[in-house]
Amino acid sequence: MSFRIHNTLGGQLEEFKPLHDNQVGMYTCGPTVYDFPHIGNYRTFVFQDILRRWLKYRGYTLRHVMNLTDVDDNTIRNSKAAGLSLREYTEKYIEAFQMDRQLLSLEDPEIVVRATDSIDDMVKVIQTLVEKGYAYESEGSIYFRVAAFKNYGQLTKIDLSGIRDGARVDTDKYDKNNARDFALWKAPKEGEPFWQTPLGPGRPGWHIECSVMSMKYLGETFDIHSGGVDLIFPHHENEIAQSEAATGKPFVRYWLHAEHLIVNGEKMSKSLGNFYTLRDLLAQGHKPSAIRYLLASVPYRRHLNFTFEGLHQAQQSIDRLRNFRFRLTQESFSAGENATLRERARAACQAFEDAMDDNLNTAEALGAVFAMVRDANTAMDHGEFRAGDCAAFLDTLERWDRIFCVLEDNDHEKLVKLGFIKRGDSSQAVLVPGQPAGIEQTAMGNGHTRAEAIELPSDEEIGRWVAERDEMRRKGNFTRADEIRQNLQKAGVILEDGKAGTRWKRK
Ligand SMILES: [Zn+2]
Repeated sequence: MSFRIHNTLGGQLEEFKPLHDNQVGMYTCGPTVYDFPHIGNYRTFVFQDILRRWLKYRGYTLRHVMNLTDVDDNTIRNSKAAGLSLREYTEKYIEAFQMDRQLLSLEDPEIVVRATDSIDDMVKVIQTLVEKGYAYESEGSIYFRVAAFKNYGQLTKIDLSGIRDGARVDTDKYDKNNARDFALWKAPKEGEPFWQTPLGPGRPGWHIECSVMSMKYLGETFDIHSGGVDLIFPHHENEIAQSEAATGKPFVRYWLHAEHLIVNGEKMSKSLGNFYTLRDLLAQGHKPSAIRYLLASVPYRRHLNFTFEGLHQAQQSIDRLRNFRFRLTQESFSAGENATLRERARAACQAFEDAMDDNLNTAEALGAVFAMVRDANTAMDHGEFRAGDCAAFLDTLERWDRIFCVLEDNDHEKLVKLGFIKRGDSSQAVLVPGQPAGIEQTAMGNGHTRAEAIELPSDEEIGRWVAERDEMRRKGNFTRADEIRQNLQKAGVILEDGKAGTRWKRK
């Protein structure tokens, strides 16, 4: 089956075919770096990571560009309040964003760009729009003339009959019933940072940033542009208008949008007290892998209802998969092969791939693997599993994990490395790395300093300890066996002795 995706432009499923052979140009709207992103933002970033990984799985070579919006009303307001320069202020949130990304196993895009590093390119495109009659100056600001671009509204499918030519809007976000001329370049207000350019002093509007940075690195027409559904209007609609007006060419071939995340069936909002950043969840002791799993588990075009029960189930699901892999690698089975079982593993792999090809149906992809795990566990319990069957099941698991990326038990290690857990803190209390004075901590942990990294035992090392302990028990050296158990416990590893041997897991 070929890879089919839902294109917001046209509103239907389409077979994905890149513009150039197997090269894919992809742009994703990055965060505005004035605060910690919330889990709704991360729902979109996890979706984009799954998309990235699936394109690579299917053999495409990816050139993925993501911007960092480091100049806008929010970054200007907050940096002023903190008494820091725009650069100093946004730097800290960029760093925090990169740490969050590592925790959630989000791959780095090939190119990450700050808006303020491309001001000259933005100025050039705005000049072109003015020359072509798509933009005009008013009181030092420059606006895009919506009425001049005939295809305006193609993504949102809005009725433009009510648009008044010349009615302007200066904010970056507005209602789609009020499509109006929007600012490409904003004259500086008192005390705001600005750039001195051939357009006069000022700063770019948000929409032009993404048009310019995407075309700069991917060309005037490229394959995929994606973001959350809240970006469709006005942001992406305006991006299309500016870009196509400037170049006269189609801008983007496939537009992909992730649906909202809601919490306990309600819109997430600070006033309802159900607003969470990633760090809020870590502070409550939730594991990054469980959060990633939960955010990935619902297909991206469906609302994701975030609940703590769901997060708990996500952790259990991961444990089941890790335990299954542990059985495959640690239990001893009778020699030989069971052709039916190997076929079962192969069919699960096929079902997983078909689900992903079907517009990234992650729920079905998970279902396919769990059905396989259930069947294999049953076969193991009944003594029908053979040593020769392991490879086929491990292969399916490994392929699945190239996309979902939760099998490696490295949460604790990552949290320690990034300074979220203090050395020797067995309660796993989560600390936020120190923030400079003037940056307000949103949720917790003010004043904590970055913790030292400690070396934790790797999976292999734990495996060796467990094996040594088994051997000591067989030889009747229970003192040494208990000592090993206690040492592992201090390192956050719990052992469970069962019929099938000893299993271990991290606390
Ligand atoms: Zn954007």
